[in-house]
Amino acid sequence: MKGLVSCALNFVAMLLALSVVCLSLAEALYLRSFPEQEGQFWHITDLHLDPTYHITDDHTKVCFSSKGFPAKNPGVFGDYMCDSPYLLIQSAFDYMKNVDLQPKFIIWTGDSPPHVPPEELSTDIVINVIRNMTNTIQAFFPDLQVYPALGNHDYWPQDQLPVSTNKIYEAVTELWKPWLTPEALKTLIKGGFYSQMIDQNLRIISLNTNLYYSPNNETLGLPDPAGQFEWLEEVLQASLKNNEKVYIIAHVPVGYLPFTINTTAMRENFNEKLVEIFRNYSSIIVGQFFGHTHRDSIMVLHDTEGNPVNSLFVAPAVTPIKNFYELQTNNPGFRLYKYNLADYTLLDIWQYYMNLTEANEQKKPDWKLEYIMTKDFNINDLQPKSLHDLVKQFEKPQSQEFQKYYRNFIVSYDQHIVCEGICKREQVCAIQFLDYESYTNCFR
Ligand SMILES: [Zn+2]
Ligand SMILES: [Zn+2]
Repeated sequence: MKGLVSCALNFVAMLLALSVVCLSLAEALYLRSFPEQEGQFWHITDLHLDPTYHITDDHTKVCFSSKGFPAKNPGVFGDYMCDSPYLLIQSAFDYMKNVDLQPKFIIWTGDSPPHVPPEELSTDIVINVIRNMTNTIQAFFPDLQVYPALGNHDYWPQDQLPVSTNKIYEAVTELWKPWLTPEALKTLIKGGFYSQMIDQNLRIISLNTNLYYSPNNETLGLPDPAGQFEWLEEVLQASLKNNEKVYIIAHVPVGYLPFTINTTAMRENFNEKLVEIFRNYSSIIVGQFFGHTHRDSIMVLHDTEGNPVNSLFVAPAVTPIKNFYELQTNNPGFRLYKYNLADYTLLDIWQYYMNLTEANEQKKPDWKLEYIMTKDFNINDLQPKSLHDLVKQFEKPQSQEFQKYYRNFIVSYDQHIVCEGICKREQVCAIQFLDYESYTNCFR
């Protein structure tokens, strides 16, 4: 009798288990057959237009941005020693416009002017370049909402973004009026930052992290430049209360630079403060997006107990520029993010790139998909836990995943470059450790 009862109970348990399996299968099928459950958006960054770019026999005269060094192999879409010709930027937007995808908005994380000595630029020239890029984006995507952030080059002299209103904050406030709400414009004109609702329960916060950038002398010794920290905490506190989710966009990334040791892009005290804020509000921040390094990298923010709590992404540049002494650079790139429309968590990256050498040879703007994050790395999504597990794979000796990551880091600039030893250590530590204490421990 006892045996019979337990058998019947087992049978019921089995039925229950089966129904759970069936339900999750049905759910999965449901989600797959309804792609409207998924949203998409573009991320473009570091356009760095060089209006002087032109093909000429004297390779030292191809572009001002090569600073007198000869261009390597100049073609219609650019050169690895130069910033972007207008045609390169147009070809990127043209591809984005015509590819069969349905993005809901664009994030644009700054740096429009070229890398040239300060005497070649002025406040008016910088404003003109930002105006040119703004108008170009509007002409290609008249129906898409764009959320911009200022870069360290979007000022003259470069890097010196001030803590109060000035000609450039005023100019971008005027230029970006079609995209931003009056409330957003109010803080943009004062400090170069803003926040705005993207969707019913999703807020974007565009930070002016150039205020924290190490070479910015305007903010030396200030505890809270332009009151941005205080403002950020207020906005996040209100978001938490209102059950909103948040995307953070900014130009200069938080954390440590992945291609060198022990160097944050921001001043260290500012970096510590920002990490603390992001940890405190990690339950509502569902994505962070940066530019500035020109390379493709990820970071996973951990809480003080070591649990992964936030996913951060640095998108590679459109400009392919490198300086004379650098051995490697990036191919031009831009990307699409996919996200869950129900809770705004990130599902995937589709990274696009142009092999500049090939495109120049063929005189065709040969943009193509470089990789799909979940497919290439065999992960389920871009949640902090998924990225945390992935970087544990990277850490294994001879990790194929890591070599793939490094190829993507330089946007397939050179398939033969391998990153091992200290190069790999710098990368895996920068991915996982964003504050001084945990980063330093990583090198012990
Ligand atoms: Zn840049
Ligand atoms: Zn920059």
